[in-house]
Amino acid sequence: TQELHIIGGGMAGSEAAWQAAQMGVPVVIHEMRPKVGTFAHRTGHFAEMVCSNSFRSDDDERNAVGLLHWEMGAANGLIMETARAHRLPAGGALAVDRDPFAEAVTARLLAHPLISTAYDEITELPADGHWIIATGPLTSTALATSIRSATGADSLAFFDAIAPIVYAESVDMSVAWMQSRYDKGETEEEQTAYMNCPMDREQYYAFIDALLAADKTEFHEGETAGYFDGCLPIEVMAERGRETLRFGPMKPVGLTNPHSDKKPYAVVQLRRDNKLGTLYNIVGFQTKMKYGAQTAVFKMIPGLENASFARLGGIHRNTFINSPTLLDAQMRLKSRPNIRFAGQVTGVEGYVESAAMGLLAGRMAAAELLGRSLPPPPPDTATGALITHITGGAEAKTFQPMNVNFGLFPPIDAKGGRKGRKDRYKAYTDRAKESFTAWLATQ
Ligand code: FAD
Repeated sequence: TQELHIIGGGMAGSEAAWQAAQMGVPVVIHEMRPKVGTFAHRTGHFAEMVCSNSFRSDDDERNAVGLLHWEMGAANGLIMETARAHRLPAGGALAVDRDPFAEAVTARLLAHPLISTAYDEITELPADGHWIIATGPLTSTALATSIRSATGADSLAFFDAIAPIVYAESVDMSVAWMQSRYDKGETEEEQTAYMNCPMDREQYYAFIDALLAADKTEFHEGETAGYFDGCLPIEVMAERGRETLRFGPMKPVGLTNPHSDKKPYAVVQLRRDNKLGTLYNIVGFQTKMKYGAQTAVFKMIPGLENASFARLGGIHRNTFINSPTLLDAQMRLKSRPNIRFAGQVTGVEGYVESAAMGLLAGRMAAAELLGRSLPPPPPDTATGALITHITGGAEAKTFQPMNVNFGLFPPIDAKGGRKGRKDRYKAYTDRAKESFTAWLATQ
């Protein structure tokens, strides 16, 4: 069997290597650390957790990331097995003793008879052979530049600028309304592209005051604030003048509030974030506010008082490709199908999501090398929902990294409204487990 080369021994690369090798395919991991470092990694180990030591909720019945844990466990994932072996007490979360965890992942990979390692930076997109690129949010500049020149300048971002994402069902539509500015667009899809939340004068100034007063996160050292005017944090726009937002993303023009005759002083717009229409992002609201501050400030927006957030906003150094345009359903670069991408660089967000995309890419690449083909898991599984989102479900134009959440799954009918949400989540995870088990059984 031909060799599979993996660039990056992080969360995704480690899992991809393990899965492919377990299927009988020889693997070479190319890792630049410890020779070449990043501003966030401290060691030369594989699968280093660069910041928090948590894999988030371990509840596989009512939480989407907990479900992802379950699926990775069912698929004999190395990252999940090792995380559980080095678990620290943390209530319902899966907290991990990071150094022993990374040392154990490294030891398991180095001991595998089919895995070898090359400790070198790869500086160019490889021309021949079978490759998985799993170089993460801090992909080295040389390789990122090479990816960019092969895929186009708009296809690779160096920063994320994430606006908060709200579950559509949690917006109060007796206050908000659906309308595109100047009623642009004729199809139903275009007409449901935006939700609007009106503010009167007092609400607007109270909101600006809250933005200015909120706790913010600083950039990490070495993580220069290289954002541009197109994606300034909302609080920085507010600092430029109390009216700036009202003439920017919150301008009240071209919109008619069907609930009131009063003209709004400002309007917060939410744009549909997925084809399913279950998620909406708050337009222009990328932010460096701390998470607690974000929920408090955004709930001041009329219509969002009871909003649930699928993810909060942020701006980080983060190298990622425009997967919806560049990748096929097999995670291959459409223009160069000998190259797959996996992990955070594909536009998923988080240790667990990155490892899950590694698991999938490793299995898909190995299947291909073994002359088989592995269809992606169904979209009603957590792994399947993520891969479906990044390779097709997400809006390519506004693509930003995504955590796993139930808004990515094909909806299950709401029984009992908001009160029934817990039961509904259980229905999602039951359906997913059955579906994922069936998918595994075909391999
Ligand atoms: P990584 O784990 O970063 O692995 C990529 C590997 O590729 C690295 O080992 C790197 O050295 C190597 N590499 C890069 N370029 C090259 C090259 N050219 N040649 C060879 N090797 C190369 N997620 C969370 O869930 N919780 C958090 O608290 C969290 N905090 C974060 C904090 C920071 C500062 C950053 C940058 C990210 C954070 N993330 C967090 C997001 C993300 O989930 C993690 O970065 C995760 O490790 C991504 O997995 P990965 O395998 O895609 O990338």
